[in-house]
Parts: sequence; C-alpha cells; structure tokens
Amino acid sequence: MATAWLSLGANIGDPRAQLAQAVQAIADHPAITVTAQSSVLTTAPWGKTDQPDFANMAITVETSLEPIDLLDVLLGIELAMGRVRKEVWGPRLIDIDIIAYDRLVLKSPRLTLPHPHAHERDFVTVPLAEIAPDTVAWVMATGQNLA
Ligand code: ATP
Ligand code: CA
Ligand code: CA
Repeated sequence: MATAWLSLGANIGDPRAQLAQAVQAIADHPAITVTAQSSVLTTAPWGKTDQPDFANMAITVETSLEPIDLLDVLLGIELAMGRVRKEVWGPRLIDIDIIAYDRLVLKSPRLTLPHPHAHERDFVTVPLAEIAPDTVAWVMATGQNLA
C-alpha cells in the first residue's frame, strides 16, 4: 500500500458539489481508500486570472495502484464528470492532481512527482497542510530543488 496526496479544484458549475462528487468517486474505487480530507477553500485563479474563483481542497488516500494507474483512474473520473480539456490552467468542472505519492521523485512524460507547481501554489499547500504538514514540508523542499 502507498499513500498519495491529491489536490482537487473546480471553478465552473457548482464547484463545491463537484469536489464532493469527485471525492465520492475516488472513495468508491475498490483500490483506493480516502483517509483524510481538508476543508474547502475559495481561492483566486492562478496563472490565468480572468476566470471565476476556485474551490480547492486536498485529500489523503491509501492505494494499491501504481502512480500511473492512479493517474489514469483520476483522469477517468474527471472525464466521467464531464471535463473537457481546452486550455491549460483554464476554467474546469474538476481537476484532480497527484501532489505526492509516498516520497517518490519521478519525471516521466505523463507524470511528474511531486507535482511540479505544488510548492508555489498556496491553493495546494494551504489545504494540504491541514491534513499532511510533513508532506507539505517535503514537497516545498523537493519542488524547489527540482526547479
Ligand atoms: P497543472 O498540471 O499545472 O496543474 P492542469 O492541471 O490544468 O495544469 P491538466 O490539463 O489537468 O493540467 O493535465 C495535463 C497533464 O498533466 C495530465 O494529462 C497528466 O498527464 C500530466 N501530469 C503530470 N504530472 C501530474 C501530476 N503530478 N498530477 C496530475 N497530472 C499530472
Ligand atoms: Ca492542476
Ligand atoms: Ca490536472
């Protein structure tokens, strides 16, 4: 079993409802257990600022899935919830990122761990610090070294 930390965000539709729906879908997966949930924060958009505010949260999961398989499950949940990828950092119904997977450092075409922007995003680190302060410290240190 591995521990992974996920960041969820949404800024169109009913953002808080979509976060709850995504957490439910993750929890319903037979190979994933949700072990902690942060509160939901309302945050100003990052990177592309001319769009609605986001609702963001973080969760901790235990999983028997390998990192790339976990990513595929999460992308599948995004797709099932109706996410259409138009532009990076644009408005979205739901975004689920893997912030860290154990203390794995990985750079592959489809997956970078820890998430390459996590250490510079308050909307990731603030909710995550509620449930996993040690992981935030590790992400801050590791992300800065990778950059
Ligand atoms: P950002 O990655 O800067 O938060 P984004 O979430 O808007 O931007 P997406 O369109 O959701 O970007 O994802 C693009 C691709 O990023 C995904 O298809 C996935 O292969 C890749 N990716 C790389 N590392 C990660 C990670 N740690 N978590 C989630 N996706 C990742
Ligand atoms: Ca993202
Ligand atoms: Ca994403």
